[in-house]
Amino acid sequence: MTVEKNIIKSNFIDTFRSSILHWYDRHHRTLPWRAPIGTKPNPYHVWLSEIMLQQTTVPTVIPYFLKFIGLWPSVKDMAAADQEDIMKEWAGLGYYARARNLHKCAQTVVNEYSGVFPNNYEALKQLPGIGDYTASAITSIAFDLPSTVVDGNVERIMSRVFKIETPFPEGKKQTKKFAKVLSENRDDRPSDYAQALMDLGSMICTPTSPKCTECPVLAQCNAYKAGKSALYPIKAPKKERPKRYGAVYWITDRQGNALFEKRPEKGLLGGMIALPTSSWETEPKTPPTFKKFKLKPTKQHIKHVFTHFELRLDIYIAECSDLLSLPLQSSYTIYPIKEGVQLGLPTVFKKAYLLAKDLTL
Ligand code: SF4
Repeated sequence: MTVEKNIIKSNFIDTFRSSILHWYDRHHRTLPWRAPIGTKPNPYHVWLSEIMLQQTTVPTVIPYFLKFIGLWPSVKDMAAADQEDIMKEWAGLGYYARARNLHKCAQTVVNEYSGVFPNNYEALKQLPGIGDYTASAITSIAFDLPSTVVDGNVERIMSRVFKIETPFPEGKKQTKKFAKVLSENRDDRPSDYAQALMDLGSMICTPTSPKCTECPVLAQCNAYKAGKSALYPIKAPKKERPKRYGAVYWITDRQGNALFEKRPEKGLLGGMIALPTSSWETEPKTPPTFKKFKLKPTKQHIKHVFTHFELRLDIYIAECSDLLSLPLQSSYTIYPIKEGVQLGLPTVFKKAYLLAKDLTL
């Protein structure tokens, strides 16, 4: 931290912050979870939006956010909700552990804090689903207290302003140190400053074509001065994502029903309604078998990219006369085929469902 402190002199910090804030006053984005400048944000809205925005873009989050606050207008309403309903409404946003933690966190805030979000980083970080970044974001955005908020936008801006030569992801550590020097102990509008950096990263200091001539901190930006804005952050060569293979089963009956499965609570897509699948292996395996059903291969498959691996699922089909008459394990559940779209299937299974429902035996 000493190195960064020496690089950044106090008048640099003053100029940087005031330029950013001045720009924000004129150009900030209007977003449904934001309070107008000068008014107090609703911590429930800030928390909900920050959880949804993890790994997800603003345009994707907006309709989900509006739907959630319509269904559950306060943290108390969310705490009283049925977890299944939350999971169902979350479908399509991905990273489903977030939805489970959302419910747990709402219940903790209601049970331990009488429905009022705590206003400090340490207490926030103890809540389910709230990590370092989200605790900092809520501290500064919702409560207007100094805290260092570092998302992808901030990392990019810091890497350019300070021309960080260490390739990402290693170089991210340095961006955090610089961001901290610019924000620690600063009580000049911490909430607006955090949001201003996010807006700057999203509107001006964009990943591929930064609009430097419109940037409020152009005079302080070392990458710009070197004529290399878009070259930062420098990235280490990407490792190839590992691949996984498996089969997904489309089992139907003559009454127009299909077999679905509630996935185990723990693990990927835990607790979600899905189509039954084989295990997902590192190599393609011989044709699968599935209990009482005679599976037939199809020529169809789906591909889905998760954060840590890429999955290919081959679609197998089977038909019986009446699924409802069969004794099945409690994790299996039967729905009319046409209701599949309303089940809140995670994206990977929605892809398989949409493809499979048009297949006929
Ligand atoms: S001058 Fe360009 S590269 Fe530097 S912070 Fe502004 S937009 Fe980003």
